[in-house]
Amino acid sequence: MKYVGAHVSASGGVQNAPLNAAAIGARAFALFTKNQRQWRAKPLTGEVVEAFQENLRQVDIAPEHVLPHDSYLINLCHPEVRGLEKSRDAFLEEMRRCERLGLRLLNFHPGATLRKISEEEAMKRVAESINLALQRTRGVTAVIENTAGQGSTLGYRFEHLVRIIEEVDDKRRVGVCLDTCHTFVAGYDLQTPEACDASFAEFDRVVGFDYLRGMHLNDSKPDLGARVDRHQSLGLGKLGWPVFRYIMQDERFDGMPLVLETIDESRWADEIQTLYGFMSG
Ligand SMILES: [Zn+2]
Ligand SMILES: [Zn+2]
Repeated sequence: MKYVGAHVSASGGVQNAPLNAAAIGARAFALFTKNQRQWRAKPLTGEVVEAFQENLRQVDIAPEHVLPHDSYLINLCHPEVRGLEKSRDAFLEEMRRCERLGLRLLNFHPGATLRKISEEEAMKRVAESINLALQRTRGVTAVIENTAGQGSTLGYRFEHLVRIIEEVDDKRRVGVCLDTCHTFVAGYDLQTPEACDASFAEFDRVVGFDYLRGMHLNDSKPDLGARVDRHQSLGLGKLGWPVFRYIMQDERFDGMPLVLETIDESRWADEIQTLYGFMSG
């Protein structure tokens, strides 16, 4: 089974996100459980948690198919003590919000070295940050997203993902999310079925599909290897449709949230329908 959705709005409260997902024909979704541009958030009330879970049931989306995304402010390998502590506190809070909502996954970008520490040191810091959060929560898996490699961000090589995983104590609660745009601009070609075969084989060899917990389905404005993070609507970017047809027809992507973060939300319902259409040929 394929579970396709989009990163929907949680405006007015997280309980609205499942309804927003159902409205576009989604069977999965992503959301921010708090304002992603602020450090602080109001605690989730019992009422909101209940409404969220009730709405999830109503639209028949399983908690396993919800892929919350953490705040963009968080940098789990921040080179300075103060910044690192603030990020780790905020990340723990994000994990706790997922736990409280009964969700199983939290998707995040590994972080940026800010060119003050080595990538090796940064990867150890990210892993330590994950360990600290996993020790204090239950049932939520930390899902590391691969990145475009823009600026000093970490996570643009599959080797980075596996290096972080190596240092995480509880391997059952760490996984990865691949973003098709990020993968492509980081230098892994996905433009043809043959290129997809090669790039996903490389992912399997280096990280392993066992760790794959979700996908972000985005076309790309920049070219292969550009290391610039600019999403495009499906079929309108440098990737085109082949990679998305490939994913929908490949069972290695079954059972996990496949989430659109494409730029024109008025196209999401159509994009979802087109994706499901690929399953029949
Ligand atoms: Zn993404
Ligand atoms: Zn992106």
